[in-house]
Amino acid sequence: MHDLRISVTDRCNFRCTYCMPREIFGRDYAFLPRTEILTFEEIARLARIFVGLGVRKIRVTGGEPLVRKDLPDLVRQLAGIPGVEDIALTTNGALLAAQAAALHDAGLRRVTVSLDSLDDAVFGAMNGVGFPVARVLAGIDAAQRYGLAPVKVNMVVKRGVNETSVLPLAEYARDHGLILRLIEFMDVGQSNGWRMQDVVPAAELVGIIDAAHPLEPLPPSYPGEVATRWRYRDGAGEIGVIASVSQPFCGACTRARLSAKGELYTCLFAAAGLDLRALLRGGATDDEIEGVIAGRWERRADRYSELRSAETRGLRHVEMFAIGG
Ligand code: SAM
Ligand code: SF4
Repeated sequence: MHDLRISVTDRCNFRCTYCMPREIFGRDYAFLPRTEILTFEEIARLARIFVGLGVRKIRVTGGEPLVRKDLPDLVRQLAGIPGVEDIALTTNGALLAAQAAALHDAGLRRVTVSLDSLDDAVFGAMNGVGFPVARVLAGIDAAQRYGLAPVKVNMVVKRGVNETSVLPLAEYARDHGLILRLIEFMDVGQSNGWRMQDVVPAAELVGIIDAAHPLEPLPPSYPGEVATRWRYRDGAGEIGVIASVSQPFCGACTRARLSAKGELYTCLFAAAGLDLRALLRGGATDDEIEGVIAGRWERRADRYSELRSAETRGLRHVEMFAIGG
């Protein structure tokens, strides 16, 4: 167990079609009440226990983590845990310009911003709320200015929707010192109407960029890295590709995920998590909680992506916004 992803809220100010489509996540959708969500103190306590079990990297995600009030306070608590080597945040960037300085002061060092197109019409349709590109770019700028660099940009590609945005976004990233990460549209959750024909395979995505700006493969930067990395032959930086559909990487996965209500998931595609909140709130000691987590981790046999088949297709999966990707 090396990485821990912590979802701090199930709420979001976007309605991305591939994650929380607005037809399903409308005004009357029941998000978790505050009491069901872990407090920052509960999150930090669990994080300390996970670090005892080997976690070195923590990523804060959601939902949209920046809609959770006072997020820098949580970052400060996490950054203070001995043994944590790296804290990162994944955000849609909408509220980043306003919060980048405070996050940096609190100890955040890296940020990944999701952005699916530089074209307002395409991006506005994909984010489901017509959110303008310029405000996300302003968030990215602020992050770079405050030292949250190099900023990574996550782009989910859907066939027939934003393939034509791949090259412009790659060029923007090259010119601005950003690392673009192309993500195959995944069949997470129940709501996004995933179909295999909507997936643009990673090899094709690399081909689009390589044709304009030749690329060469880079070795993984650490074992279990989910992105395959490519470098521009002219030295203008690198890109990453996350081929979870066309080339599943389950065997090397070292990731644990904590949902906003305190469930542990050992796979993005799992149907059920392990309820750590019940232990926290039921008076369990740190040692007891550690034992339960370690047991679950050792027994984990999740490898949904590798098994993806007729049998697994019908299973219920947890939603992406609940566990943060
Ligand atoms: N709200 C934040 C954001 O969008 O960056 C953090 C949470 S979001 C669930 C984390 C990442 O998952 C984002 O980069 C998003 O694009 C990606 N994602 C969501 N649904 C996806 C899907 N169906 N396939 C592939 N990636 C997806
Ligand atoms: Fe919100 Fe992120 Fe999901 Fe988009 S991908 S709906 S920004 S949680």
